[in-house]
Amino acid sequence: MLNTKTAHELLDLISSGEVSYEDVLVDVKSQIKKTESKIKAYAHPPNNVESVSQGSLLKGIPIAIKDNICTKEYLTTCSSHILEGFNPPYDATVIERLKEKGALIFGKTNMDEFAFGSSCETSFYGPSRNPWDLDRVPGGSSGGSAAAVASDEAIWALGSDTGGSIRQPASLCGVVGLKPTYGRVSRYGLIAFASSLDQIGPITKDVYDTALLLNIIAGHDNRDSTSINIETEDYLKCLEKDIKGLKIAIPKEYFIKGLDKEVGDSIRETRSTLEKLGASFKEVSLPHTKYAVAVYYILATAEASSNLARFDGVQYGFRERNIDKKETGPMISMYKQSRGKGFGLEAKRRIILGTYVLSSGYYDAYYLRALKVRTLIKKDFDEVFKEFDCIITPTSPTPAFKIGERLENPLSMYLSDIYTISANLSGIPAISIPCGFTKGRLPIGLQILSAPFKERDLLRTAYTFEQNTDWHKAKPKI
Ligand code: GLN
Repeated sequence: MLNTKTAHELLDLISSGEVSYEDVLVDVKSQIKKTESKIKAYAHPPNNVESVSQGSLLKGIPIAIKDNICTKEYLTTCSSHILEGFNPPYDATVIERLKEKGALIFGKTNMDEFAFGSSCETSFYGPSRNPWDLDRVPGGSSGGSAAAVASDEAIWALGSDTGGSIRQPASLCGVVGLKPTYGRVSRYGLIAFASSLDQIGPITKDVYDTALLLNIIAGHDNRDSTSINIETEDYLKCLEKDIKGLKIAIPKEYFIKGLDKEVGDSIRETRSTLEKLGASFKEVSLPHTKYAVAVYYILATAEASSNLARFDGVQYGFRERNIDKKETGPMISMYKQSRGKGFGLEAKRRIILGTYVLSSGYYDAYYLRALKVRTLIKKDFDEVFKEFDCIITPTSPTPAFKIGERLENPLSMYLSDIYTISANLSGIPAISIPCGFTKGRLPIGLQILSAPFKERDLLRTAYTFEQNTDWHKAKPKI
């Protein structure tokens, strides 16, 4: 079954003439046929394929794309009713770059509506399921991408990460997920959630594929004013199998009440493995960590409320046709009723919260203050990276939780990202890799963070750990 392989393994097989990219597609499609009715990883499943540019780097290897990244061949709906039927007239920069290198865009993956969530349950299309336990969530918001890769319904995928949406689902599904440094990957064509936090990144079966994919999508783009014009590296060259002399910090604020015992134990074991491989460890403090969740939900909702103002029933997607005009006249009624029906509950909650913190009476007390604390959170990291190459933490405080378990309690859902959002607030890169299983056979993820634009350090650490362990090789029985 070719669909169980990584992209780099398939590239070797295609290059040596043993298989063709059509053979790969046959196996991916047959897996989708077999398991998609259980997993529901796709919002818009793969279409019939047009020709791909052969001979180029990626040789027609298919890639699944999160439903908030604009693609010409597929609808892009952010898994929301309000973008129903929206077919972008252009490709996002990351999609252009993938196509130039000969990748085949192959389906759009399910997500929490507008990337608001940690469980993939707020999708208009219904929840995706975790391939390791179908009663549990795959994480979110890129849960469809992570579930597709973990179930071998995709070879690899792109996700987006505003507060953890690549890393947390990667962790819950037992795959690799990287959020690059803010500005490293173009956001042009990514439908914005919170523009100062969003980044696109890879979700893959191993660290090698993450580096390969990052090589293609990273780099300056003058259509994104927040894209940074710093040379990219060859990330494949960062994959040394050696961490001798590497200095790693462990922040004490991450090992607190609420951390699942099995997750904590597995991170401690990982530490001793990394120590044996030559890294040195020291406990450090990131004192402003305790404010991260509050700061994030003020800033992210503020930006989201502004970004979502454009969905008004006029320009894109869904418009309510049976307008009740009595209340406010035809135009305002059309806006209100289109938005009222088009957005789900969580999107409305965020628009209301974001509008509130930006309102003139509360702007200083909430929004401005949150911006100041954001700077303090970033400074905590700057201090640590003066002395250390990497920081390690759990990716998620718990393994995958049951479908429905946190849906009624937004605060408990928001705490799912307690370990991931600080990286977005401070713009630094972070990766999640598989590092163990619970007794109930649920995957556990390790998060590795490094200084801005030092993806090299976290890739090297992740690769060394992966090459000396077998966690990434395990497959779920679906
Ligand atoms: N779960 C977080 C939220 O709901 C992060 C989402 C994301 O990274 N897109 O905001």
